[in-house]
Amino acid sequence: NNDTSDSVELLQDKLRGGLLVDGFVENSCLSRYQSAMYHLRGLSGNPSSYLISRLRKYEAQHKQCGPYTEFYNKTVEQLRSGKFTESSPCKYVVWISFSGLGNRILTLASAFLYALLTNRVLLVDPGVDMVDLFCEPFPYASWFLPADFPLTAQFNNFSQKSDQCHGKMLKYKSVVNSNVPSFVYLHLVHNYDDHDKLFFCDEEQHFLQEVPWLVMKTDNYFVPSLFLMPSFEQELNDLFPNKETVFHFLGRYLFHPTNSVWGLVTRYYQAYLAKVDERVGIQIRVFDTEPGPFEHVLDQILACILKHKLLPDVNHQQDAINSSGIPKSKAVLMTSLSSGYFEKVRDMYWEYPTVTGEVVGVYQPSHEGYQQTQKRTHNQKAWAEMYLLSLTDVLVTSSWSTFGYVAQGLGGLKPWILYKPENRTAPDPPCRRAMSMEPCFHAPPFYDCKAKRGTDTGELVPYVRHCEDMSWGLKLV
Ligand code: GDP
Repeated sequence: NNDTSDSVELLQDKLRGGLLVDGFVENSCLSRYQSAMYHLRGLSGNPSSYLISRLRKYEAQHKQCGPYTEFYNKTVEQLRSGKFTESSPCKYVVWISFSGLGNRILTLASAFLYALLTNRVLLVDPGVDMVDLFCEPFPYASWFLPADFPLTAQFNNFSQKSDQCHGKMLKYKSVVNSNVPSFVYLHLVHNYDDHDKLFFCDEEQHFLQEVPWLVMKTDNYFVPSLFLMPSFEQELNDLFPNKETVFHFLGRYLFHPTNSVWGLVTRYYQAYLAKVDERVGIQIRVFDTEPGPFEHVLDQILACILKHKLLPDVNHQQDAINSSGIPKSKAVLMTSLSSGYFEKVRDMYWEYPTVTGEVVGVYQPSHEGYQQTQKRTHNQKAWAEMYLLSLTDVLVTSSWSTFGYVAQGLGGLKPWILYKPENRTAPDPPCRRAMSMEPCFHAPPFYDCKAKRGTDTGELVPYVRHCEDMSWGLKLV
């Protein structure tokens, strides 16, 4: 009957066509199910049935191997004793909380995909604020690493100099295949060297396969390079027939704001964004040692939005326009550490009428001044703002910013990217449309593992290209 088919459809919608699973306590994480009402466009495309079945399989594995399960305790025991005794049925990727929030969201998605590809279980270092920011994504068992995990105290000290560092082991040839270490530290931070980068070679993956604990520190979205590894090729093809949806689907699956962050998102959305005809997001990130605001950045923002008609121009000659009927309304959501750009754009649309007669409201939730990575409310606001940007219809982002990548990826949006200004002048052209909604991998390896020589990894396959905003970066398209 109609009632049940309606409710099945509703449930399908609530679960994003099977991307999410039912069975969580709803009040503990309101965003998990409510977010469908805010992402008005729904998902960008449908996740493959293989991805969905693989996620369900992962959830079962996570339940079996999660914190304090029998297998977990056993595998931790090997770590404590430092001896590899027998191959454990549960192997792990431990993600170390490291770097700015945008970076962390991208690296966590990368680590999860790597876990899926290698049949490992992902455990998350809660750091100082991860628990305040993100709900549990997996039913039945936590993804957070327990406080008594034996390596936690060393997380900050792990570096390329650590004896357990994979790159260092390769450099000094301290890897002996018959001798499996109880853990290996993977240094995938942007300053990593050629030995660390061998992580992206099948041969090294073969060695890592046996290691029960892989502890990963990274600040990069390394997914594009996984797509260049022959051993993962088929699986990735099956998981993501449309390659530009990797972060979009994994992000929507993994990252659900906690209730306190969700409150920030929904109150702001309802008050300023819900009731307009169109929402435009503008994310301004200026990588400059001085705080700004800068005239050339403002010029660039205006040049981009006017050139591509993302917002109407204003008429400086006219005081008021005589229009009948209710004008179309647009809301502009700006995010920036500084309030200067927002004030200028807001004033422009207050002081002059638009040439189209549309009304434009301009809003900016916070202006925190500078990056304060260790502060709780600061990161909650940063997360809420990335999320709000993802709910807009048209998005403008800044080059090089992972903050913007998260917004575009979650939103399923191909943003207009503002080129990075050089020598304090507005670039011409000011911006260009992104090729895909995927984030850019800022520090990819340029190495042909088979030929053992350098190569341009942005030229090997049509779906891994150099990024619009960073010529040496790689992204999926
Ligand atoms: P990226 O440096 O732009 O790649 O982005 P990250 O998120 O990794 O690091 C920048 C950090 O600076 C964020 O996590 C925030 O803490 C802060 N930040 C930068 N831009 C904004 C902004 O527009 N709003 C808020 N609230 N914080 C910001």
